[in-house]
Amino acid sequence: MPNIPQVGVFDTSFHTTIPDYANTYPGPYLWKELGIKRFGFHGINYEYCSARCSVLLKKDEFKTVCCHLGNGSSIAAIDHTHSIDTSMGFTPLEGLMMGSRCGSIDPGIILFLEQQYHQSPEEIFKTLNYESGLKGISGSSNDMRDIIDLCSKNDPRAKLSFEMYVYSVKRNIGAMIGILNGFNTLIFTAGIGENSALIRQKVCQGLQHVGVIIDEQKNLSCSGDKLISSGCSSIDILVVKAQEDWCIAHKISEMRSNGLL
Ligand code: AMP
Repeated sequence: MPNIPQVGVFDTSFHTTIPDYANTYPGPYLWKELGIKRFGFHGINYEYCSARCSVLLKKDEFKTVCCHLGNGSSIAAIDHTHSIDTSMGFTPLEGLMMGSRCGSIDPGIILFLEQQYHQSPEEIFKTLNYESGLKGISGSSNDMRDIIDLCSKNDPRAKLSFEMYVYSVKRNIGAMIGILNGFNTLIFTAGIGENSALIRQKVCQGLQHVGVIIDEQKNLSCSGDKLISSGCSSIDILVVKAQEDWCIAHKISEMRSNGLL
């Protein structure tokens, strides 16, 4: 279709505001010169969620920890509409434990597998991307619905994978609160974040000391975009339905208005 304009909207663009000290890996400086850096992903949805947050909370000054919890999961620290840091990195493998991706692990494990078990780069790629995370630990499924179901049947590996996932989200929320210089909004988005009241409840449990208090009733009855924090929570807790498609369409519409298409 040579006459149809093609537009690329990158999932990484939103994260170009991450400062150098946060997007540079502490390897040799050559890595930086080779372009190895933290790109971050899920940027289209993070951009959408921060715009939506402005509308729903009717405020412009927000410092947000946004949890994109889907089959691929990541967390971003957003200062108003600027990404300050995010958990995914050079590839979507870094950060949180995910459906079948491992998230952050000691890179020494990879060397150990190569040296002691003679695993090839292809085998390790497959393991890290498709045989790890919820699926790897539970041995059953990468789908949180199955994991929750198996937990109710007391499956020990599913229980461990569930606890590890919640722990991984909380640990990363803590890291993002630490670098935001203020924190007033927590967002849950994507398949797990939008649909699992149990995960939202478990993640918020124990975060009262940083002002995160969930309203159990609002959390349980949540559908669509909704504020689920209790009246005494100093942090607004929002559920936002991921809408990358809307955000992409909006960008294209802007380009048309500006005569670029
Ligand atoms: P996404 O990658 O954002 O499309 O999210 C897909 C994932 O969301 C699925 O693999 C499930 O793990 C999860 N999910 C969807 N619905 C639910 C639900 N009701 N409870 C728990 N997890 C869910």
